[in-house]
Amino acid sequence: MKLFGAVYRSRLNMVLRGSDNKPLVSLPRLAVRDVLHATVRLASGFCQSLLNFFNMHILAMHGAHLPSFFRRIGTILESMLPGSCALCHGDSQHAICTTCSLQFFANIPVRCEICGRRMLHVHAKICGICLRTPPAFDATIVACDYAAPSDMLVQDLKFRSRLPLAQSFGQMLANAIQKQIIDTPDVIIPVPLSETRLAQRGFNQAGEIARSVSRHTNIPLQFQMCVRVRDTQPQARLPIGERRVNMRGAFAVQLNASVRNQHVLLVDDVMTTGHTLNELAACLKRHGAKRVTNAVFARTPEK
Ligand SMILES: [Zn+2]
Ligand SMILES: [Zn+2]
Repeated sequence: MKLFGAVYRSRLNMVLRGSDNKPLVSLPRLAVRDVLHATVRLASGFCQSLLNFFNMHILAMHGAHLPSFFRRIGTILESMLPGSCALCHGDSQHAICTTCSLQFFANIPVRCEICGRRMLHVHAKICGICLRTPPAFDATIVACDYAAPSDMLVQDLKFRSRLPLAQSFGQMLANAIQKQIIDTPDVIIPVPLSETRLAQRGFNQAGEIARSVSRHTNIPLQFQMCVRVRDTQPQARLPIGERRVNMRGAFAVQLNASVRNQHVLLVDDVMTTGHTLNELAACLKRHGAKRVTNAVFARTPEK
């Protein structure tokens, strides 16, 4: 038996390292390695397509009705796939790697507590605009300015369906919320999309970010609490002066849901003039919401 073992080991050694005991790099072995690599790449591409299909057609359309295990399938699939950072393209299990997060998003400027505009005076808490005309919302938490590279990331999420970015945005927002909010919100509501826009895009980016914020803060998410009752023009295409009118009466709180005496956290991807969030906050306040705090990933800086 011992002799058989010794002969077997020496045969194996010959196959792996060659008869003269030098590392063997032969053409067939290189071919095997290439085939293996190609197979892994193919399998990974297939899984990525499967994941995109799941995110686009199942999670985005029916996410709110799925049991939590099925909602987690995307996250499980993602954790098994080799990932790369959207900014530096280095290996990363998150859509934005830790180095890029620290480089681009760690700086927190002084902002107006109510509307999130950048402030020049470090000691002032509320900007002149909010002092003159207080908006319907009470506070705004901002993760970063809508400027390079965050503008590109938002476009990637919205128009190229890079849904894993929503998880990173949500995590950054959750960190900002935990640092800045004293009074923990009772419920998270994403800014709703109209049925038409949802059908075109396949998912609500604010909803995907809100899902991640909810997961990281343990604040319950109410996906269906608010709806858009009127199709509005995309705010970005309208002159600033027309945006308030465009949003008037755009939202409704669902009849079977109650926001009475609740501190609501409204989640959106980008805040520009704030008219959308103001209209939604006013609608929630009419239904008895105690306090409304906005949580937006990026805010357009003042020109
Ligand atoms: Zn990176
Ligand atoms: Zn302000």
